[in-house]
Amino acid sequence: MERQRYQQIILSHARKPQHKGKTNPIHRQNQGENPYCGDKVELTLMLDETETKIEDIKFEAAGCALCLASTDLMAGAVKGKDISKALLMVEDFRNMVMGENTLKPPLEKLNIMQNVSKFPMRVKCVTLAWHTLKGALDGDKEM
Ligand code: ZN
Repeated sequence: MERQRYQQIILSHARKPQHKGKTNPIHRQNQGENPYCGDKVELTLMLDETETKIEDIKFEAAGCALCLASTDLMAGAVKGKDISKALLMVEDFRNMVMGENTLKPPLEKLNIMQNVSKFPMRVKCVTLAWHTLKGALDGDKEM
């Protein structure tokens, strides 16, 4: 993808995130940190009554534009999805960032994050949100 367009997408999500805040009520939450860059992400999730689906997901985050954009894109991607599906998406996303596959529609927008595969330090910036999501979904335990 053209570099300019890549940067536009990152900056627009970082500056005007669509999923910022906290869910009400909060059924799952987790915090993640990437000490290499100083990124911090706090996720809150609202589940459906059977606790199998992510009804809503919101985040508070501080960090670099890549981290903020990736977190916003992640929230948009998993909102409304079954938990089992979201956990598969965590794996798919990680493999995509490592350059091992590309995501299919409707997730193809996330493929822009593959630009970081050449920069190991930045990989942590874009995967932080997904690791934090996995932690939130894996159980009730606080991380
Ligand atoms: Zn970062």
